[in-house]
Amino acid sequence: MHILVYLEERNGQIRKPSLEAITTAKSLGATKISAAIVAASTSAMVEQARGLDVAEVFVVDEPRLAEYSSHATAKALYQAVLKSGAEVIIMGATGRGKDLAPRLTVYFNADGGYVPDVTSFTTEDGKLVATHPIYAGKANAHIRVNVKYHVYTTRPNLWKASKDTPATPPTVTNVSATLEDKDFVEHTTAVTLSQGKLDVAEADIIVSGGRGMKGPEHWNLLEDLAGAFGAATGASRAVVDAGWRPHSEQVGQTGKTVSPSLYVAVGISGAVQHLAGMSSSKTIVAINKDPNAPIFNLVDYGIVGDIFEILPALTEEIKKIRAH
Ligand code: FAD
Repeated sequence: MHILVYLEERNGQIRKPSLEAITTAKSLGATKISAAIVAASTSAMVEQARGLDVAEVFVVDEPRLAEYSSHATAKALYQAVLKSGAEVIIMGATGRGKDLAPRLTVYFNADGGYVPDVTSFTTEDGKLVATHPIYAGKANAHIRVNVKYHVYTTRPNLWKASKDTPATPPTVTNVSATLEDKDFVEHTTAVTLSQGKLDVAEADIIVSGGRGMKGPEHWNLLEDLAGAFGAATGASRAVVDAGWRPHSEQVGQTGKTVSPSLYVAVGISGAVQHLAGMSSSKTIVAINKDPNAPIFNLVDYGIVGDIFEILPALTEEIKKIRAH
């Protein structure tokens, strides 16, 4: 099985979900792992890719892709896949991955099948079966692709980012993709992180606040705890709808799906739509004054009490522990 991993970049850096996808490919027993870069001015990315534990890197260097364009990127990536000979394509289920993977699959026509947001793989009769949560995480669909080309997006943070260095650096193969002006149907003009903070979808630790925080003026308490942990801050939809926090921080069915090592839910009741976005977190801690709050059915550690007493005390303790 030859697996090709699409390398997504942000500001010229290969993103963590792409490195995780390499680990996924290894865990599937690939006979060959390749990587693909589709971007403009790719030399810095190619340099990083030379340090990745893959056999070959296929590069489409296209000046018109200085910013992401989904149709054009999908078409160029399709050509890179054909050149590589890979039949399984994996990319992180990031905003871009979710956009690009189905468009790429369309190019394979009836020879391509796509499974989004995969959380694990098994094999059945020697064939891959991908697990994809459905109904807001209440059930799992186990999906087998029965055609030649498989396209998967894998949920960030469930596999470790590959840090292995190759015994021999990968071969770099340039692909001259045929792109016409009409392929640039739309164009991202810029991607900016809100306030330059850690992206909640990629963070290893998340401290999320809900309506129990009582208002945006108290968010400094949450940010202090997040700072002590080196965590990103998240939010429930109630808080985002109230305009207390930006939508980029929303966790849940209509926000981001996260799987950090540690998720701390502060003043969040645990509605099913919130749980849909964070229930695959490895360790879950909740602080809530209501001992019957549904979030407590899911947690590893629950603290029943008032946020405004607990948060400052907890922050102090974490700071002390991390200082050692
Ligand atoms: P609440 O439910 O009001 O909970 C606040 C909690 O804070 C309570 O449990 C309370 O006991 C506790 N509290 C209050 N004061 C204190 C204090 N001083 N100390 C300690 N604890 C305190 N929600 C999401 O989060 N993400 C989504 O993506 C999402 N998508 C949705 C999609 C649809 C189609 C629908 C219908 C809903 C969606 N929701 C989503 C909304 C969801 O149903 C809930 O309304 C929302 O999650 C509630 O947010 P909350 O927990 O912050 O607020």
